[in-house]
Amino acid sequence: MLEIRNIKKSYKTGTFIQHALKDVSISFRPNEFVAILGPSGSGKTTLLNIIGGLDRYDSGDLVINGKSTKKFSDSNWDSYRNNCVGFIFQSYNLINHLNILENVEMSLTLSGVSKKVRKQKALDALKQVGLIDHAYKKPNQLSGGQMQRVAIARALVNEPDIILADEPTGALDSTTSVQIMELIKEIAKDKLVIMVTHNKELAYDYANRIIELKDGELINDTNPHEQSKNNQEYKIRKTAMSFFTALSLSFKNIETKKGRTFLTAFASSIGIIGIALILSLSNGFNIEVEKFEKDALSSLPIMISEQTVEMDEDSLAKMRDSFKIDNNSYPSEEVIYIQKDMVEDTTHTNIINQEFIDYIEKINPKYVSGISYMRLVSINALSKAKDGYKIIDNSYLTTLPKSLDEKQNDVVEDNYDLLKGKFATNKDEVVLAVDSKNRVNEKLLEMLGFDLSKDNFTFDEILNKEIKVVLNDDWYIDNNNYFIPNFNYEELYNNKNNLTLKIVGIIRGKEDAKLVSASSGIAYTESLIDYIVENNSKSKIVLKQKELDYNILTGEQFREEKDKDAVLSYLGNDNLPILVNIFPRNFDSKDEIIKYLDDYNETKLEEDKLLYTDMASLISSLSGSIMDAITIVLIAFSSISLVVSCIMIGIITYISVLERTKEIGILRAMGARRKDITRVFNAETIIIGLCSGLLGITIARILVFPANIIIYNATGLDNVAKMNPLHALLLLIISMLLTVLGGLIPAKVASRKNPVEALRTE
Ligand code: ADP
Ligand code: MG
Repeated sequence: MLEIRNIKKSYKTGTFIQHALKDVSISFRPNEFVAILGPSGSGKTTLLNIIGGLDRYDSGDLVINGKSTKKFSDSNWDSYRNNCVGFIFQSYNLINHLNILENVEMSLTLSGVSKKVRKQKALDALKQVGLIDHAYKKPNQLSGGQMQRVAIARALVNEPDIILADEPTGALDSTTSVQIMELIKEIAKDKLVIMVTHNKELAYDYANRIIELKDGELINDTNPHEQSKNNQEYKIRKTAMSFFTALSLSFKNIETKKGRTFLTAFASSIGIIGIALILSLSNGFNIEVEKFEKDALSSLPIMISEQTVEMDEDSLAKMRDSFKIDNNSYPSEEVIYIQKDMVEDTTHTNIINQEFIDYIEKINPKYVSGISYMRLVSINALSKAKDGYKIIDNSYLTTLPKSLDEKQNDVVEDNYDLLKGKFATNKDEVVLAVDSKNRVNEKLLEMLGFDLSKDNFTFDEILNKEIKVVLNDDWYIDNNNYFIPNFNYEELYNNKNNLTLKIVGIIRGKEDAKLVSASSGIAYTESLIDYIVENNSKSKIVLKQKELDYNILTGEQFREEKDKDAVLSYLGNDNLPILVNIFPRNFDSKDEIIKYLDDYNETKLEEDKLLYTDMASLISSLSGSIMDAITIVLIAFSSISLVVSCIMIGIITYISVLERTKEIGILRAMGARRKDITRVFNAETIIIGLCSGLLGITIARILVFPANIIIYNATGLDNVAKMNPLHALLLLIISMLLTVLGGLIPAKVASRKNPVEALRTE
């Protein structure tokens, strides 16, 4: 059934070649007890290893049931070892971290036998060697003889046809040796047993065939066998270790070194802790910023002004470029370069026309809390003081924001507190807005005709103060081709055509209001502007100015059409604004407004498009990107510790591979594939990675509490740091991936180990 033909095997160490086997041919009977004798170094172990498929012959052939093994693949050899051969070694070679039963089960485990069958077979085998009572002990709790019995049980459990024993009694006393020999003889009744020994007496007492080797050559065979031709087909079951087996094997190994595993996991979790904490913080801060945005920034206006800078990717890139210091900065050559004007091609001129104004005034009032316009229209305003009349500078006059929904005009009430009087609702009503400290600019007070020698004024002194609005035809004196203002203020003030404005209320921006300017001033209603434009657009000065190509007030020549338009607007020809602020009701309505504006632009040519500036998103994209930048920098730092732990895991796994070399040899002898060995070590690193990931996340989760206390004390923000469960999961996976990555090379090294050499290590 088994035959070796002209086997040669030599070992090369450096330049020295040792011929361990020189052309050995032996044929074995299916059922005999063969003892191989010979002095040390004669090639006995080499022969046995070659028969067992642990080592490869250089030339010749090993024939099993008439089938040549010349073309055997690695997996053929693995299967052969697993289910045709049982090994018994001099030094027992049990896996120390598994108990007796598990050791015996191993070769069944490797070939994927179910747990129940496995256990039954292993117990049967243990019974056969008389160790049924010791099934749950660990190898180091047994005597040498008992350990060898376990090894015999392990060799028998898979019911192989061949048992190979390499000096099985070499480490035992004579009494125990006899017991072991009896046991092996018993086995040899229905199997082929090939036993290497240098104990001649035992060999002659028990074996029924003695083969002697010397210097790698066969010198004597007491009972040679002539191979009969039988060509029964040889079938071998494939072996395959399930990943779960690898996992439990590694888990049991790790169990024996809990302390070290914990320390390793802890050390490699530090990077995870760092990143988890940083992510928790930035996550929390982002939530906080978002909340702030929704709160505070939501009502920042969407601004449409005559000149806008296009904030597209291109122009942003150009802007960044101009701040960047690179290799071309600080040149040494004496050359001057042209700096391209950035504003030129990023500035867009918005032409705000009536069509657009009509369009935006039709926005659904559901989305807009108010609209405010800034116009060029000049208001000819005068007040009366004790010592004469004062012209009121238009820079102190502002329009109140107006609501799009007449029935729900809450935009002013929402943002201002009424301190006294009432809100202005008519064209002849104005209010005085004071700043947060109830202050009013001294120039404005002076222009309103108040005596500045006083420290303060009561509300009642201010209320009902009158301001006269003079129409153009009275304000300007017609000198044919140029106009000059009338300086007879008394006459102007008392003109019957004037509109008399009255301060009807005193208002102050609410503490949390967002759309009011902090400064003081006189605020009027939209209807006042309508009144002025209605009257002044037909005034003489406007009609005249339309005919002329120079500024009617200064005589200056117009260079561009729009300069003339500006003067006409100033004189009250139209009420087209130069700036529109649209105030959204909330964060979501802002998107609706932007969509509405985009719809307008859709059909327009590039130059007719009205570009808007979204103040809120400008601010938030700025704050968001700063947060992101900080987060990235911090994570980069923590990643260094991740790399360190990756390397550390690699080293630890490598040490583990060195420690478990013997185990690798044993597993390989029992038919484990290279892949299975890789799996065992990958399983080990996955366990460590999982531990370190879980540990890291748990510790980070705990550290979030003190971190929040520190943040609370520093900023007053409560409960900022929050761990996103998704981040936790991701970090767990990263931790496992990194440890596997670190252990990959050592695991490969392990799988490449020569089983014969692995078995030789102590
Ligand atoms: P035995 O078991 O009869 O004592 P071995 O089969 O172990 O002898 O060894 C036979 C010869 O081959 C010895 O000279 C030994 O030094 C040599 N040898 C065995 N294995 C190796 C190896 N892996 N590398 C180099 N030489 C080896
Ligand atoms: Mg030997």
